[in-house]
Amino acid sequence: MPTLTATERERLLRLPKTEQHLHFEAALPLSEAQARHGDVLRPVPPFWAPEFRYDDFAHFSQISRDYVFPSFQSPEDYLALAGPIFKDIRAQNVRYLETSLNLFLLERHDFDLDVFIRALRSEAPPDMDVRFYCGFRRNAYNGRLAGIIDKAATSDEVAGLDLHGIESLPLEPWTAEVWARAKACGKRNKAHAGEFCGPDSVRQVVADLKVDRVQHGVRAVESPDLVSRLAGEGVVLDLCPLSNLRLKVCPSIAAHPLRSLLTAGVRCTVNSDDPILFGNFITDDLAALVDEASFTFQEIVRILKVGWEEADIDSGTRARYMAELDAASAEADSRKSSTGVDPVSD
Ligand SMILES: [Zn+2]
Repeated sequence: MPTLTATERERLLRLPKTEQHLHFEAALPLSEAQARHGDVLRPVPPFWAPEFRYDDFAHFSQISRDYVFPSFQSPEDYLALAGPIFKDIRAQNVRYLETSLNLFLLERHDFDLDVFIRALRSEAPPDMDVRFYCGFRRNAYNGRLAGIIDKAATSDEVAGLDLHGIESLPLEPWTAEVWARAKACGKRNKAHAGEFCGPDSVRQVVADLKVDRVQHGVRAVESPDLVSRLAGEGVVLDLCPLSNLRLKVCPSIAAHPLRSLLTAGVRCTVNSDDPILFGNFITDDLAALVDEASFTFQEIVRILKVGWEEADIDSGTRARYMAELDAASAEADSRKSSTGVDPVSD
């Protein structure tokens, strides 16, 4: 099996990236998790072992509750961890981040959502744009949480809504109304679908919620009709290959549907999803695609360009990062023509 050299990996690391499917809490830095759960998580978490796979989503949720959620017990915890989280993401040369906050963890607190998000944003590095999404479960619209969701749907500080958690729960009637309200306020909405459930779950969030982005959506590949529709309508799938591997959504990175989806014309980005739970950063996902699924450097650049095309930024900033990617691609081409080897290689 091929293995990337340090030089090749460094080239992937240096590419300017967007990250558009990242759960804020699950980007908890390892050192912070170890400070609280060192007995289990040192020297490295058992769920980072290369062959480790989660049994199912319930197992994954249990590990989240055991080792991630305890660090996020209050808005103050979020603020204390925001700086270290952003620092880790920025270290991957991520220059534009869309990250989803889990409103369930904030439900019992009395806090002002706008003030809270502004405070979180102030912790971001000045050279990384951050957009905050509010995420919650399909059955979350109850009690205090319903009020926070209503606030999020219209807040100027919130970029959009995201539906996550157990995917097999039905889409409840309130959801389409809230998504429509958020869209009317200019938000770009998301929903998790097509990860544990099949193509129908993707069809449903596209048709009923009119999402701009599907988080995962990878199982759309099982329906050629749906794949054509996603390609035709330009619906973006924010994919997470290593997450899919760890959760047994796909048997291997070589068998991941990304290439099939791209070949069919579906717009896809690559993202890390839950770094502390999968032991990955976005560069690891890109490296795995090169190493295990034979993606070329140029193909990786093209995927990153989709992220920049979709990013909610001004045209000058977009053009600057696209030019940087073009330059990296041209450099890879000249390396290939002078050495005759694969562009990612020396
Ligand atoms: Zn996710």
